[in-house]
Amino acid sequence: LGEAAINKLLQKPAFDEVELSPKIREANKATFGKDMTAAELVAQIVRDVRFEGDKAVLRYTKLIDKVDCDIKDLLVTEEEFAAAEAQADPQVVASLKKAAENVRRYHEEQKPNSWMTYREHGSLLGQSLIPLDRVGIYVPGGTAAYPSSVIMNAMPAVVAGVGEIVMMVPPKNGAINPYVLIAARLAGVKKIYKIGGAQAIAALAFGTESIPRVDKITGPGNIFVTLAKKEVYGHVDIDMLAGPSEILIVADDSADPVYTAADMLSQAEHDPLASSIVITDSEKLARQVAIEAENQLQKLPRQEIARASIERNGLIVIAENMQQALRFANTSAPEHLELLTREPFQLLPYVRHAGAVFLGAYSPEPLGDYFAGPNHVLPTGGTARYYSVLNVETFMKRTSLISYTQPALEAVSEDIIRLAETEGLQAHANAIRLRRKN
Ligand code: NAD
Repeated sequence: LGEAAINKLLQKPAFDEVELSPKIREANKATFGKDMTAAELVAQIVRDVRFEGDKAVLRYTKLIDKVDCDIKDLLVTEEEFAAAEAQADPQVVASLKKAAENVRRYHEEQKPNSWMTYREHGSLLGQSLIPLDRVGIYVPGGTAAYPSSVIMNAMPAVVAGVGEIVMMVPPKNGAINPYVLIAARLAGVKKIYKIGGAQAIAALAFGTESIPRVDKITGPGNIFVTLAKKEVYGHVDIDMLAGPSEILIVADDSADPVYTAADMLSQAEHDPLASSIVITDSEKLARQVAIEAENQLQKLPRQEIARASIERNGLIVIAENMQQALRFANTSAPEHLELLTREPFQLLPYVRHAGAVFLGAYSPEPLGDYFAGPNHVLPTGGTARYYSVLNVETFMKRTSLISYTQPALEAVSEDIIRLAETEGLQAHANAIRLRRKN
């Protein structure tokens, strides 16, 4: 496989090139009175929420999510938390608690420290890490509920020491899944609004009469959410622009075809646009995985979604050797990379681009999705080339510290004056020259 062939195999539309299905576009035309692309609609929603505030939030929540209420009713109340706790299965709550604890422990280890160092003549340089004042986290919830995403988004912010977390979750028939609320409590989130889509992102970015404006928005979502994050970037910071989920499995002849097929399908069931790729140097394994995938697919409750995804973006590639397989993986820069090989740690040094790497037969991707501790909000669509997994530092910023003594400044003054004058900035040079003793 040459570079061009690899690129062709991996060609997928970028997140903002994905067209709305004719059905959704027709429905939107009926709702909004005109035919719009997703980007046009999102731009309109963001503009309206920015300039009309609560009124526009309520209008779009009613039009799109079919919830017609007062703005104060969109804020989750203590009674709703209590009702969620009352109806929850204690075993699920216990598992969520363990998962939250693992995620907290992992992210505690990640926490970066401020530092200072002494240099010549008593000068001091450093860097302080300061948590953000207020962040917004978006927890998707249009078609499914994701308590795990609450923990994954909120916990690093809590560990970073963020002052306030404002969470947005789309309402389903006016309510929020109880486990989403319980996960929010476990992670320490107090303020939750039942608002979804572009209107939620715009409200976080600009604030409204009732909803506080945040400094950064994190969390995955559908095309409307992602386009809205792109639209508000600059007014606030965002974590990344996430597209459909992906897995790429590098396997050799030691891989179990049953495990390999199961891991492919664990991505495919997310979304018809999700992608699941296996690359192996074993033709035998390739054939076995194809058969096994079909067997398992037939038994999945979400077969329709998984099949659509496999038919669209499922791929089993036979590579000449493992080097070629790794080149393929790096070009793809997948969200999840599994190394199902005899010696996965020997391949690790060659991995350049991946959101998360799962090494060995007993580290399947759902282990990371729910439980192990590392974050599951990961770069997709090849953006692992430059984006990192959501982490504690996502919720902090760095500030430089500089403190010189007079002798330290005197010692470097000539260099600074020369550089300032070369740039024609006399006042800069003066600020140094006036402090010289000799
Ligand atoms: P969502 O919360 O992202 O979107 C629902 C909202 O979209 C609704 O509240 C509505 O306001 C808006 N919307 C829906 N249809 C619309 C339309 N026709 N016009 C305008 N706005 C509309 O929930 P979802 O749709 O279920 O999507 C969730 C996405 O998040 C999936 O792609 C899923 O794979 C992804 N996800 C990713 C991760 C991760 O960590 N990467 C985790 C969980 C989910």
